[in-house]
Amino acid sequence: MSEQLIFLNGQFVKKEDAVVSVYDHGFLYGDGVFEGIRSYSGNVFRLEEHLTRLYDSAKSIMLTIPYTKEEMTNIVVETLRQNKLKDGYIRLVVSRGVGDLGLSPYTCARAQVIVIAEPLSIFPKELYETGLEIVTVATRRNRSDVLSPMVKSLNYLNNILVKIEANLAGVQEALMLNDQGYVAEGSADNIFIVKDNKLLTPPGYVGALVGVTRNAIIKIAREKGYEVSEDVFTRHDVYTADEVFLTGTAAEVIAVNKVDGRVIGDGKPGPITSILLEGFRELTQTDGVKVYDQTLHVS
Ligand code: PMP
Repeated sequence: MSEQLIFLNGQFVKKEDAVVSVYDHGFLYGDGVFEGIRSYSGNVFRLEEHLTRLYDSAKSIMLTIPYTKEEMTNIVVETLRQNKLKDGYIRLVVSRGVGDLGLSPYTCARAQVIVIAEPLSIFPKELYETGLEIVTVATRRNRSDVLSPMVKSLNYLNNILVKIEANLAGVQEALMLNDQGYVAEGSADNIFIVKDNKLLTPPGYVGALVGVTRNAIIKIAREKGYEVSEDVFTRHDVYTADEVFLTGTAAEVIAVNKVDGRVIGDGKPGPITSILLEGFRELTQTDGVKVYDQTLHVS
């Protein structure tokens, strides 16, 4: 990539000039929302769904995003164009903005909008061939009535603590339970289990972010004739599943081979996981907002 350009409050600036104030409440308090989006061969996958989640998250925390969804679509597309990227990871951040040191968001005059597009650092290919080992962590998912996991806020400490626990246990990903002990999700991925050819994933209200990849997988699986339910389940169901996999923008669809020392299936990515990964990758090549075949303008 030539010189990276970052969208910062209405302008494209060089990476070294893309700085925000230490009085920004996103920095001081994690007050803001964000999205992680991906572009495949010049198609921004499910951009509308990502933006809907962003605007819903902002609404939930009473944060006004100073652009319409249409304008934001153009900004994301233009950021990819400015960086001449077809395959890229896009980070969209909307922070509460610059205020005083108090908690009150009302001292922040205007939200700050940042869009970063980078070439993808794809997960190692071997991981898709071997699968991933995960462990259940002691840290529980935020309760929905405390800080809803449906809000993709800049407050990711819950997830970061989970990641630290998983790493301390020598694995890369975690299984997070909700406060009642039901399976919620990974540190930044949704979870599916497969038993007798049927798929099961926790509903959002159990304590999971409703993932864009998750939703795409549910649709692909149903189109391929598999039954998919959104319901609560426990670790026992995970341990005894035929297949377990995680979904997320970065990970796409990744098999889990071991959970808390229990080998899942025969310890290799299962057939349904592989079919769904293939279906997902096919979809990403065609579906999405086209970055290079339309005229879009940043206002
Ligand atoms: N759960 C959490 C907590 C996440 O941060 C993510 C990543 N955005 C996901 C699930 C997966 O969501 P998506 O498929 O939209 O990337």
